[in-house]
Amino acid sequence: MTTVTNLGFPRMGTRRELKPALEAYWHDDTKCASLLDTAKQLRRRHWTLQREAGAQVVPCNDFSLYDHVLDTAYMLDAIPERYRALADADPLAGYFALARGAQRDDVDLHALEMTKWFDTNYHYIVPELHAAQTFRLRTHKPVEEFLEAKAQGIDARPVLLGPVSFLLLSKTIDGSDRLALLDRLLPVYAELLGKLKDAGANWVQIDEPCLVLDQDMDDHVAYRTAYRVLAQIPRPKLLLTTYFGALDDNLALASQLLVDGLHVDLVRAPNQLDDVLDALPRQHVLSLGVVDGRNIWRTDLDHVLPLIKRAHARIGGERLQLAPSCSLLHIPIDVSLETELSSELRSWLSFGRQKIEELRTLRDALKSANALAALEDARQRQVSRRQSSDVHRPDVIARVDALNAKDAQRASPYLTRRDAQRKRFTLPLFPTTTIGSFPQTKDVREARAKYKSGKLQHADYEAFLQEQTQQCIRFQEEIGLDVLVHGEFERNDMVEYFGEQLDGFAFTKHGWVQSYGSRCVKPPIIYGDVQRPAPMTVRWSAYAQSLTSRPMKGMLTGPVTVLQWSFVRDDQPRSATCCQLALALRDEVLDLQAAGIGIIQIDEPALREGLPLRRKEWASYLDWAVECFRVTASGVADDTQIHTHMCYSEFNDIIEAVAAMDADVISIETSRSRMALLDAFVRFHYPNEIGPGVYDIHSPRVPGIEEMVTLLEKATAVLGPEQLWVNPDCGLKTRGWPETYDALQALVEAAHIMRQRV
Ligand code: GLN
Ligand code: ZN
Repeated sequence: MTTVTNLGFPRMGTRRELKPALEAYWHDDTKCASLLDTAKQLRRRHWTLQREAGAQVVPCNDFSLYDHVLDTAYMLDAIPERYRALADADPLAGYFALARGAQRDDVDLHALEMTKWFDTNYHYIVPELHAAQTFRLRTHKPVEEFLEAKAQGIDARPVLLGPVSFLLLSKTIDGSDRLALLDRLLPVYAELLGKLKDAGANWVQIDEPCLVLDQDMDDHVAYRTAYRVLAQIPRPKLLLTTYFGALDDNLALASQLLVDGLHVDLVRAPNQLDDVLDALPRQHVLSLGVVDGRNIWRTDLDHVLPLIKRAHARIGGERLQLAPSCSLLHIPIDVSLETELSSELRSWLSFGRQKIEELRTLRDALKSANALAALEDARQRQVSRRQSSDVHRPDVIARVDALNAKDAQRASPYLTRRDAQRKRFTLPLFPTTTIGSFPQTKDVREARAKYKSGKLQHADYEAFLQEQTQQCIRFQEEIGLDVLVHGEFERNDMVEYFGEQLDGFAFTKHGWVQSYGSRCVKPPIIYGDVQRPAPMTVRWSAYAQSLTSRPMKGMLTGPVTVLQWSFVRDDQPRSATCCQLALALRDEVLDLQAAGIGIIQIDEPALREGLPLRRKEWASYLDWAVECFRVTASGVADDTQIHTHMCYSEFNDIIEAVAAMDADVISIETSRSRMALLDAFVRFHYPNEIGPGVYDIHSPRVPGIEEMVTLLEKATAVLGPEQLWVNPDCGLKTRGWPETYDALQALVEAAHIMRQRV
């Protein structure tokens, strides 16, 4: 009979219980036992919850104290030499040192690099390997968690990150080939699988998510080798698990690997079903990912049921499993806690628990008429969402329809605008500015919390923010910056601040999703057509401008970044939602201009991370993303200067799109790469102005004047001096005031020196 399964569950707990337990331990390592106890309770509670919701197969070893890729590296003893002494002396301290670095007594260790897990907002720790790398089973975490579940009466299915994806997600520090390590790695996987079998595991979920990426011949050879070797040992059956996209040109390979079942993502790639059914070997189990593990909407069961029935007709119920598209790590746990949302909106949402319940309904619908009531209930929810006048606003739709090419085009070409802007602002060469936020000190955060909880009156909060803004402006004038910012003290977060003022957004109370380690984010939910009922930033920007005679830069978050960092509607293309955001922000840009703000920055730090996983889909994404930015920016006069800011970016393969954004000025993160990121701009003969970051704001370290001059000299060697701005890498909100003062003073001094040199 068809089985309801799950592939992974959020780790933090409905109330983020893991977070304080982790942080308490990091602060004071005598809290170790209490951390481990909290972790154990969470696993136990989550297994029970999943069973109650209807999962017949629940995962184990999906839990992690920090990150599952780090767990895998640690288990395999892929620990760089410098951490080894600590890890041997104190395994838990060693584990966290890899994740977070460690600084105590005679130990001073950097953290390993962290990067995004595919196209999610979850970040994993990048294992660091080298040509002479050896592996052994250092821990038995998967076995221990399997036995822990068993003791609770649950026959869980251990989750392992597969050997090929593990290597492909790692990096070597000596430039050697990661995949060359496979031969050394496989015996350890074999040993682990043997131990899991001995412990009683019948099945293992082996994740090879890299199979949805563009893979070359070497990768293919590695998969074949890995699963041939692992077929030769006594082991549990293997469910080869792929997610976040279609197998596509890797399908033939995936279906030939010597495993016992295949999981495919039918949410991102529903069209692959028939090809998968054709390719599936006769004995294989097929797990269909039919509810969205990446988003929070209830599933349209009427849409999914025909897919499942098709599979059922082909392979029968015994070999069929129903699952979320991917691990539920990327969504919150339980929507029933969101009592402050309107009951209508809540009825459209499905978090982790509800996703599993939906799978149960689908399974029931296959075998009996008992599910009719549940199906009808689900149908009603879809109907109410489709018909809601909160969601669908004819005026917004009409405005999007009326957009034409001119709306995405500045009135004049760049060089004309440049002249108009130079006349208006008379800035020196190497103009200095910052990226927007200034230190969000404890005072600022406390005042906001007090205001939100009603302990601080509106007028008092306003006065507090005004004072912060004033001080910030005085500070910038004193230091001698050329283009000022107001400091963003009124903003909690660069997306939430805008979402709270736009129609079509909702906010949860407990909808936390792990970003990395103990850090969680609570993405806004874009549920309806987006509209701006009133100006959002004009008051603060105009107030700030009234305090200074220097140009004040207005500060907005761009449409692509708002989209990227929210839970987005699934009833229309992402591009359509983005376009609505662009129009709302365009109005804001025009209102800023009307209020006398002549320089406006539209941040798009997430533009690059929105890139699809497959290259062939990049062009169409970049087309609409750039178009949306241009719609936001293009309504202004020639002498209004549009800035954009992008961090976390590698520009080589998107430079054409970045140039097409046609911002008058772009600021980018370059100090850590020592200007290497500028290469793309140089090669492209990028015509507009650029502010390559010369101060790495991710570290409390204060850069010296000479160091920044050296970076700027590197920049002037390849770009014209009239093209360059001088600014930090990103906003200063995580920094303290004293270091900000010293660093910006040095930055301004560096610009002065450069002016004298040209
Ligand atoms: N304007 C924002 C700030 O300064 C930009 C943040 C970002 O790029 N991530 O904080
Ligand atoms: Zn940034």
